[in-house]
Amino acid sequence: MTPTDDIQRAAELRALLDRYGREYYELDAPTVPDAEYDRLLRELMALEARHPELQRHDSPTRRVGGAPLDAFEQVAHAVPMLSLNNVFSDMQLEAPVERHAELAQFDERVARELAVLPVEYAVEPKFDGLAISLLYRDGVLVQAATRGDGVTGENVTENVRTVRSLPLRLAGDNLPSLLEVRGEVLMFKADFERLNQAQDALGEKRFANPRNAAAGSLRQLDSRITAKRRLSFFAYAIARIEGAEWPDTHQAEMNWLATLGLPVVEDALRPAVRGLTGLVVYYEEILARRAELPYDIDGVVYKVNRRDQQEQLGFVARAPRFAIAHKFPAEEALTVVEAVEEQV
Ligand code: NAD
Repeated sequence: MTPTDDIQRAAELRALLDRYGREYYELDAPTVPDAEYDRLLRELMALEARHPELQRHDSPTRRVGGAPLDAFEQVAHAVPMLSLNNVFSDMQLEAPVERHAELAQFDERVARELAVLPVEYAVEPKFDGLAISLLYRDGVLVQAATRGDGVTGENVTENVRTVRSLPLRLAGDNLPSLLEVRGEVLMFKADFERLNQAQDALGEKRFANPRNAAAGSLRQLDSRITAKRRLSFFAYAIARIEGAEWPDTHQAEMNWLATLGLPVVEDALRPAVRGLTGLVVYYEEILARRAELPYDIDGVVYKVNRRDQQEQLGFVARAPRFAIAHKFPAEEALTVVEAVEEQV
């Protein structure tokens, strides 16, 4: 039998995580740092693993994102927009093997299931913005939707059209008749600073961080406000293709998207890396240059490079099994985040 304390704690954690999730995903106004949310989520995951009878379908450990706001037209995702499982490293530990133990477990599982050694992975930064799905028909951008709860998102097409780096029409000939691209909308650090200076000049409240500013700016009912905020975009996946060949590897997908004129981060165009060593080298390298990057990242993402192997590994409830987010140690202090309560 599950001890009463554990039952109570699980209920407490679910209530807290539900509240923080709503504040973060639906209102763009978090009240606790991400590290605190992650800590509570991991505690609930551990409790549910220890006592499977505590598991629920509507648990925050099973869900993706938050409900789409009624103020927006709803978009049903033809391919669900999922989350990513994550691993952390304890950078205080000396020996690399111990430091990256969680990552090593991921790589071992993947290698075992594929019966391949070493596994080839595509590596990319984990952008700290919000996920968006773009639909191009015959090369023309016809729809943009937020992730919402993963199944239903918000139609933000007009707002996305104001993102200057995003092509409204794809480049080249022989375009696919349909292409659904997934990527991240974010705000560069310099644009965030400029926005907060403008807020100061107007005597308005400052935005808490670039992610918050990007989410608040994209989910505006008036696209003229979005147009005044400088948002950026990087593509990181393809969800659907019709009328063209699907490239064999993730790395080839990213290169193809770049030739179509979509913004793809340079790291994603590099050759794939091999095995745990390749992953660790990339992680430590990007961790060292994190502060110099013009945008915020909260980790890196590794994806099994070959599509046939991705398909073999498949998905669990809320995340692919062929990819993992390797999160950086928390930078934020455990103080209450002062967020701009900007409502749509
Ligand atoms: P996640 O951020 O852990 O991972 C999935 C997301 O990563 C995708 O939806 C995508 O948008 C993004 N991503 C960025 N770069 C990518 C790349 N190269 N390839 C693929 N995906 C990429 O997802 P999540 O489940 O939405 O969010 C959890 C995050 O949100 C945690 O960091 C958590 O701390 C934070 N959060 C904070 C609060 C709070 O109250 N502070 C509440 C809820 C969630």
